[in-house]
This record gives sequence, structure tokens and C-alpha cells, in this order.
Amino acid sequence: MTLHTGRHFLQIPGPTNVPDRILRAIDRPTIDHRGPEFQELGASVLAGIRRIFQTESPVIIYPASGTGAWEAALVNCLSSGDRVLMAETGHFASLWHKMAQRLGLKVEFIPGDWRRGVDPAAVAERLAKDKAHTIKAVCCVHNETSTGVTSRIAEVRKAMDAERHPALLMVDTISSLGSIEYRHDAWGVDVTVGGSQKGLMLPPGLSFNAISKKALAAAEKGGMARSFWDWSDMLGPNEKGFFPYTPATNLLYGLQEAIAMLEEEGLENVFARHARHGEATRQAVQSWGLEVLCQDEREYSDALTAVVLPDGHDADAFRAAVLEAFDMSLGSGLGKLQGRVFRIGHLGSFNDLMLMGTLAGVEMGLSLAGVPHQRGGAQRAMDYLASTSGNSAAEP
Ligand code: PLP
Repeated sequence: MTLHTGRHFLQIPGPTNVPDRILRAIDRPTIDHRGPEFQELGASVLAGIRRIFQTESPVIIYPASGTGAWEAALVNCLSSGDRVLMAETGHFASLWHKMAQRLGLKVEFIPGDWRRGVDPAAVAERLAKDKAHTIKAVCCVHNETSTGVTSRIAEVRKAMDAERHPALLMVDTISSLGSIEYRHDAWGVDVTVGGSQKGLMLPPGLSFNAISKKALAAAEKGGMARSFWDWSDMLGPNEKGFFPYTPATNLLYGLQEAIAMLEEEGLENVFARHARHGEATRQAVQSWGLEVLCQDEREYSDALTAVVLPDGHDADAFRAAVLEAFDMSLGSGLGKLQGRVFRIGHLGSFNDLMLMGTLAGVEMGLSLAGVPHQRGGAQRAMDYLASTSGNSAAEP
């Protein structure tokens, strides 16, 4: 094992690097979660997180990983035996699909090749056939973290509206919230699922459900047997800034700081920064002569890039070489992509020089691991960053 100095490069697509400001915010004494000081914190984060989801509706905050918030979305609104439409965009869509099946939902999975997002036309086509409105929800992963593909949620909504279909729209934004444009209200989403450990720059441990009025009405009328995930238990105490059980107080301090940082930069600037870093990364990959997994330019993810290795080369061996030589963690290929792709995370608390360090590490690693490529990808990204440097907001 090489002894490493300096900071580790955590360039997986989440958990992301936690900025010092957030670490300091978390590093405080835990307070009485039923006292007035907590109430101020609770009210502040519950109001602030709505602005990040771009919604006027309530957002539930769970002390759970994103998987918990997936379950919460399903069990509050749907009953066992309900029909649900999902799209096979990658590993995370497949996991959500498996969960829905385990919960007794009848899931139709629109097949996919893990290189494209949800096809709005395929959703429309399926809904058009459902004259009796037996499909109760359409569930999409906005940014498929396993593939680096961002689905066009506003277009899925339009397709549903064009069919005048009443199904709820549920969207997973675990790796897009706070990095790629997302509008819960404007896009007519009923339940948005989010997580703390990616664009929000926090450690893992919090997850979210943003809820529309229609979703709330569905939950009041039905849903499955549930207890911990029940929205109704949360909403009353949340109105006063409290939680029905012990909240993750110190992560909430971190969340308050994360919201402040995102708002100081401005959400539009946050999205533009990610778009610029996504573009620089793709230009580097193209220069190396390697393939970006995502096949539709409209769906390139600005949060991460999944890179396909040439046949006969193992992406995990490449990642291991990079970790050993340069102390940088890159994302692995998940599910059926294991060994075939590696993923470069460029989301969260990130800037031009962090991206250049990352891309330099990838380029050196390709040489070290004997992966055939052309040199100069990092240079191309640097040229792109230099030519667009006025376009990025200053890092807070
Ligand atoms: N959905 C997406 C898009 C994800 O990227 C992840 C995790 O990376 C999950 C769901 C699952 O979240 P968690 O691992 O926090 O339970």
C-alpha cells in the first residue's frame, strides 16, 4: 500500500465531498430536539428544503438513506396489487422496481438498454392503452447514477397530461437534487424522492419526500400498512418545526448550511456550474477516444459521466490502479455494467481545479493500467474550462 499524503479525491457520484463549512456546522453539541432552539432549526430546514425542490408543498425529511424514501413514496400512496409503470434505465431503476414488486405492486417495466433515459413516448403509448386507469403511478429515476443518463421529466409529465391519465408521477432525484435543474411544482411531480449525500453535499443519512396535494390526498385515502414512513405522523409536528421522533439533529445543522451555500451561489448558477463541468468531462472522454455510456446528447448527465472501457479491459482493475497510485476513488460499474464502465462524479462541492485533478488522475491512470487511449483529454478539458471561465459562479 502506498502511503498517501494530501486529501483523498472522492470522485464517486455520491457520497460527495463534504465541504468544511458543512463539517463545521455539523460539529456542534446535539440539542434538545423538543426545545425552542431545535424548533428554529427544524422550521428553517423544513422551509429551506422546499426551495431546493422548487415546491410550495411539504417536504418530509427522514433519518434514512435514499432507499427508505423510495419505500416511503410507494407505501404512502399505493396499495398492494396496484399497477405501477416504471422504466428500466439502469441499476437504480431496477432496484426500485424490485422494491415495488416486494411490496406487492404489479409493476410493468418498460425495457431499456441502460444507455438512455425514460422514453416519454413509450410512457404515453402504455398509458393510452390503459383506458380503465388501472395504472396508479409512473415512477422514474431523474438522474440514473449507474449510467450517467438524465431523463426528461418535464416531457414525461407532458406525455401523461396529453393522455389525460390520472396516475401519480413519482421521481427519484437522489443524484440530481442540488446539481441538475429540477422543479417539483412546475413539472407537476407528485412525489419527489431525494437524498442528502450527493448534490446537497452532506454525509449520507437524510432522505426526502416532496409531496403534491394529489399525492397527499392519495395517502389520506389509502396506501399500504405503514408506520415509520407514514407522512401523516410527520406533517403535524413539522408544521411547528418538530419531528414525531428523534431527528438526526446534527445532519439537520449540516442541511441548514447546505441550503445556505446553494442559495448563496444561486440554484441557476449551481446548475450552470455542473453543466460546465459535465461538458468539460465529456470533451476529455471524447479526446481519450473512449465512449460515454449515455447515447442521447439530450440526456447527458451533468452530475456524473460513465465511461465505457474498450473490450478486454477491466474497469475495476483500472479503478484499483487509480486508487493505489493517486488516492482517488472513481465510481464502479453497477449491476450488469460491473467491470465494463467506470464513473466520474463531478457533482456537489466542486470546482475547476478539482475537476482538473480528477481528469488528470483518470488520464494518468489509463496509461498506468495499460488502457488504450489518446493523450490530451485533460488538456482539452482545461482549454474548455479556460475558454468558459467567466461562465461559472464563484464557489462559495
Ligand atoms: N436512487 C439513486 C438514483 C441513487 O443514486 C441511489 C444511491 O446511490 C439510490 C437511489 C439509493 O440511495 P441510498 O443508497 O442512499 O439508499
